[in-house]
Amino acid sequence: TVVTRFAPSPTGFLHVGGARTALYSWLVAKAAGGKFVLRIEDTDRERSTQPAIDAILEGMEWLGLTWDEGPYYQTKRFDRYEHYIAQLLAEDKAYKCYCSTERLEQMREEQMANGEKPRYDGHCRDNPAAGGDSYVIRFRNPQTGSVKFHDHIRGPIEFANSELDDLIIARSDGTPTYNFCVVIDDWEMQITHVVRGEDHINNTPRQINILQALGAPIPEYAHVSMILGDDGKKLSKRHGAVSVMQYRDDGYLPEAVLNYLVRLGWSHGDQEIFSVAEMTELFRLDDVNKAASAFNTEKLNWLNQHYMKSLPVERVVPYLQWHFTDQAIDVSKGPALEQLLPVMADRVKTLKELAAQSRYFYEEYEAFDEAAAKKHLRPVAREALEAVQDRLASLTEWNPASIQQAIQQTADDLQVGMGKVGMPLRVAVTGSGNSPSLDVTLAMLSQTQVVGRIARAIS
Ligand code: GLU
Repeated sequence: TVVTRFAPSPTGFLHVGGARTALYSWLVAKAAGGKFVLRIEDTDRERSTQPAIDAILEGMEWLGLTWDEGPYYQTKRFDRYEHYIAQLLAEDKAYKCYCSTERLEQMREEQMANGEKPRYDGHCRDNPAAGGDSYVIRFRNPQTGSVKFHDHIRGPIEFANSELDDLIIARSDGTPTYNFCVVIDDWEMQITHVVRGEDHINNTPRQINILQALGAPIPEYAHVSMILGDDGKKLSKRHGAVSVMQYRDDGYLPEAVLNYLVRLGWSHGDQEIFSVAEMTELFRLDDVNKAASAFNTEKLNWLNQHYMKSLPVERVVPYLQWHFTDQAIDVSKGPALEQLLPVMADRVKTLKELAAQSRYFYEEYEAFDEAAAKKHLRPVAREALEAVQDRLASLTEWNPASIQQAIQQTADDLQVGMGKVGMPLRVAVTGSGNSPSLDVTLAMLSQTQVVGRIARAIS
């Protein structure tokens, strides 16, 4: 069975690049009816934090990238790593290196001065006389031949062993190093496909050599390219949100973010909209683009609006409710969100905007939008507002059709166009010049509220 994993280092929030890697890895597992493992690579104790772990789990849950196994924590698996370090030592596939920091430093400087790439010179490799107080453990990397693998995204890749030095697998305090932990975990967790960022590509030949020394199977690999901002530079805060949870806070639906992420580097014809079921069916690692992809907020906005309009209302409402609560708007004081959503979804890009622009349905607006008031309310609109107020106040049925008729009749009475009544009325009732169609907007408020707000505007 196919087993994939997402293995974040918890040094910050779940960022867009990590989420895309997780999604691709998740899709590979789901498509094959396999398993998806979550592994927290927290061995760097100084940089790993509990809030970062929580943020990553929260982000994964919000996106719906559920894991079948884990989360595993590397810090809880030290006995496993130590076991294999001892084994490699016993088999002479690893050795103790007593070289002092000074010696290594000097070697490094000389190599740099000669224009060589700094690498361990193998001083302790075959030197049984080496000794001292403190040592690290190095993996005995093959010195000849090469490591070849087929990358699902980048094609065939080959590294000469002469380029690789003897990697430290245990530090002088005995703790295992990063590449070693990854190898042991991928093996013990029976990972069949390693999907990760291209920044790890140089680790792959080292990891393959260690797997081979252990007699472990070699998984398949796919190294996903970077995400760039719209200016072609590496995606960073300057380009807007980089944290997945920031997208939730900014009013995006997980469906939109997932759809956006899957397309960031993968395509299937010219199709843009993919449900999770479709992604699972159609996604192939081999179709992932090896060029870097550029982030495009417009497209994300477009997808978000699409999902706000097309997902079942009951799927969207809980997320929408979150934003109303976040903006301290009491939804019990106005139309049900199920009713509001279809009316507003066309007019906004995000749920956050939707909530912000719907405040007047739930509470009195504080002040008129100045520009709208200047244009439509003062000084000429009193007559129209008084007339339409009368008409609306005397309605015995309160619905879009009756409201529409009252506005039309007022315009006819005054022998003016609909807009001469409608726009002042809109500003009077909503405080702004921008709302869904008036009949629907007014019908979602109560008759008393509407009449009261007109009174307020002409007072
Ligand atoms: N922990 C690594 C990272 O967050 C990923 C390692 C891997 O996927 O092999 O970059």
